[in-house]
Amino acid sequence: MIVAPDQMLTVGVLREQARGEQRVGLTPDSTGRLLSAGYRVVVEQGAGQQAWFSDSDYAAAGATVGPCAAVLDASDVVVCLHPSAILHALSPKHTVVGLLQPLLDPQLMLRMAEAGVTALSFDMLPRTVSRAQSMDALTSQASVAGYKAALVAADAYGGFFPMLTTAAGTTKPATVLVLGAGVAGLQAIATTRRLGAVVSAFDVRDSAQSDIRSLGATVLDVGVTVASEGGYARQLTAQEQADLTGRVAAAVERYDVLITTAQVPGRPPPLLVPADALSRMRAGSVVVDGAAGDFGGNVEGSVADSTVTTDGGVTVIGAGNLAAQVPRAASTAYARNVAALIAYFTKGGGFAIDLDDEVQAGLVITHGGRVVHPAVRTLLEENP
Ligand code: NAD
Repeated sequence: MIVAPDQMLTVGVLREQARGEQRVGLTPDSTGRLLSAGYRVVVEQGAGQQAWFSDSDYAAAGATVGPCAAVLDASDVVVCLHPSAILHALSPKHTVVGLLQPLLDPQLMLRMAEAGVTALSFDMLPRTVSRAQSMDALTSQASVAGYKAALVAADAYGGFFPMLTTAAGTTKPATVLVLGAGVAGLQAIATTRRLGAVVSAFDVRDSAQSDIRSLGATVLDVGVTVASEGGYARQLTAQEQADLTGRVAAAVERYDVLITTAQVPGRPPPLLVPADALSRMRAGSVVVDGAAGDFGGNVEGSVADSTVTTDGGVTVIGAGNLAAQVPRAASTAYARNVAALIAYFTKGGGFAIDLDDEVQAGLVITHGGRVVHPAVRTLLEENP
């Protein structure tokens, strides 16, 4: 439930600029929610086009549609997915909400603080706090990405996922290995199983093993797991990582399809599949590296947003931004997270920052001309 502010605030929605990004930060449906709660909404022309939300859909929902400069001029709260060059045009009157990756790009946060911008990043939401769950954009987007990873793999694979019995004989089901069984990995397991594949999975967190089994998949036991830290995998020591990589690498050649989704918050993704393991996979195997992006990937030689075929005939798909390829569903979920966040910060007279609140203290990265998030401050102090 969104509380109407006494003084009408304007929420601005930008058209995403990143290559391959098809999502939009607010949908006409969530626009209607904000408007009925007393906000104004301004949307950059074409912002929702790639997710099949037209300017006229936004106008029909009651938003004003205009050029980027007019959106920035009118907005108090600016909604986006990724940081972009436009964010440099923000001023102290702006609060920006997005997936800003502050631990991977703390210098951007410093520049925003220096520009007086208040920056809120979904990446840093304390996700285990129950009142924060409606704002959990990492989960909503990872869930879409895991689903799409299964479809991308099935599409690229030259065989059937299910066992099929036909007059021409019976086909064997595809064998799938999912590495990383968090939100995205579990959705990939569920979706590949729905398609009829025989699925195994591995996650380094000990608590993930029961999640894997609960979806009917087999746990790949490589003899290395660690206790979760706050629900997340900790970064492994060099020796642990070397043991793990060796054992996982020895297993991957047994599978037709490999989907990787392993991440460590604020760190480059762990390398799980070295080139020599890829070289031992059968020709026709498919690898979807769901962690491939600007900061690396789980598979050696995967290239973000590209498909490469190894000399041995293995198709390697670098797919770190798969949620962008299901733009309508992903935008709808993200927009609900945005609307929930705006509701959460709306108190009495308007948009109020309260750093004594645990959830807000996680989300707010810059405020009042300073980087206020402790983890980001620490990073900046370590690497000035
Ligand atoms: P994530 O995207 O940071 O990582 C994905 C997965 O990669 C994790 O499961 C992680 O353990 C795994 N991983 C990391 N290093 C690995 C390695 N070397 N080898 C294999 N796997 C590796 O995590 P996520 O999917 O966003 O969520 C992580 C955890 O948070 C899960 O336990 C999830 O259930 C939990 N969570 C809880 C809530 C909640 O309580 N409301 C909400 C969202 C997520």
